[in-house]
Amino acid sequence: MDSPPLRIAMISEHASPLAALGGVDAGGQNVYVAHVARCLAAMGHQVDVLTRRDDPALPTAADMRPGLRVLHVQAGPATAVPKEELLPHMPAFAHTARQLFRHSVPYDVVHANFFMSGLVGLKLKEWLGTPLVVTFHALGLVRREHQGAADGFPEQRIAIEKRLVRRADRVVAECPQDRDDLLRLYGGDDERIRMVPCGVDLTEFSPGDKARARRELGLSDDEFVVLQLGRMVPRKGVDNVIRAVGRMAPRADGRRPVRLLVVGGNSPVPDERHTPEIGRLRGVAHEAGIAERVHFTGQRQRDALRACYVAADVFVSTPWYEPFGITPLEAMACGTPVIGSDVGGIRYSVADGVTGFLVPPHDPDALAERLMLLRDNPALASALGRAGIRRVRAQFTWDRIARDLAEVYREARGEPTPVTGPQRSAVVLRRAALGGGVAAVLEAQPEARA
Ligand code: UDP
Repeated sequence: MDSPPLRIAMISEHASPLAALGGVDAGGQNVYVAHVARCLAAMGHQVDVLTRRDDPALPTAADMRPGLRVLHVQAGPATAVPKEELLPHMPAFAHTARQLFRHSVPYDVVHANFFMSGLVGLKLKEWLGTPLVVTFHALGLVRREHQGAADGFPEQRIAIEKRLVRRADRVVAECPQDRDDLLRLYGGDDERIRMVPCGVDLTEFSPGDKARARRELGLSDDEFVVLQLGRMVPRKGVDNVIRAVGRMAPRADGRRPVRLLVVGGNSPVPDERHTPEIGRLRGVAHEAGIAERVHFTGQRQRDALRACYVAADVFVSTPWYEPFGITPLEAMACGTPVIGSDVGGIRYSVADGVTGFLVPPHDPDALAERLMLLRDNPALASALGRAGIRRVRAQFTWDRIARDLAEVYREARGEPTPVTGPQRSAVVLRRAALGGGVAAVLEAQPEARA
């Protein structure tokens, strides 16, 4: 690192880097915060992730690695609360964060994730002058375009996002579509928007032995395995994938029967009681006449995902819209070709005809046609998979993303030129000066706060 390290407060109110993933409210943002924070800490920066305490058993502060702590902020009940209902608890979050900032030394920059953390970051900027960088991860107006009445977020979301776009020092767009949305729908100022995509951890996701992965998962070698992996929410278009699989014409020789593996859910138990969406999707599979070809696994922990990607012949993700979409990168890192919706971040990460194919969302026939092409041309599928590995290695590693974000932080601080030299030791002193007052602030009861 050529410049002195930064003290970074990363705020992610609902998406903790420590959460189990795959449920309704735990997915890409959690992965982003965990990896960006880890890589920044590995680069020598000091990172505190502030997230809402959603379980009384959580420690006040958890060390994730040297230079990286997760601080649990009391804001609302210490239980899971749907993210749509969290906005009223953000004033309490902001007040605790303010106390925290006072008891620690000032952070150099706040990186807020999602609009509610953005609101906290804006308050801190007003109160303390801390430069603010925002990654929205999803935009209310885009969501509303696609979800209409099903959008359960409060009305104020849009006004808060517009304020953030006007007032944040830098806004991170995750893909060209995100940038366009910020300009088109929010009147964003291109001068303050920086495009930094999401990434993938190549130590976590890499090519492997397909036959072995299939044995581990109980899949047979002659099947054409289609993988769908992610949060189980309607906008992910899992029903589209099921319908497409149902429309694939079997091969004349009867070989390579299709199997659809659907990974994700609120629990490792793949039933309707834990994940109502799985119940709906089983109905779709039944209607399509392929119930016995679709296998729901429920939520899977990180260490089990690589085998799923490696075992698959193709990874499919056809959401209605997608702010970025990390799962296609994970598949590519494992050498698996991707068929994705021609929307948002997928349009950016998947090179059509090179690392996979882009198809319109809500179009099971177009998807079925591409699936059959790959089923019947294994050499093409392998070539697309190999190109995917090259693409993620060149463009989408978390190390690279974290380096780019650190530059954005410096810009937000009005610090365009890297500075070297004695200032490094000043940061070491600041680290040592971070004292026990922080714990007192985090452990204080909400009523006792200002
Ligand atoms: N994921 C997981 N276990 C599951 C399902 C999903 O760890 O059972 C992870 C998945 O590997 C990916 C993240 O959740 O890293 C989903 O991120 P993505 O950006 O694809 O979608 P988002 O959740 O942001 O809509």
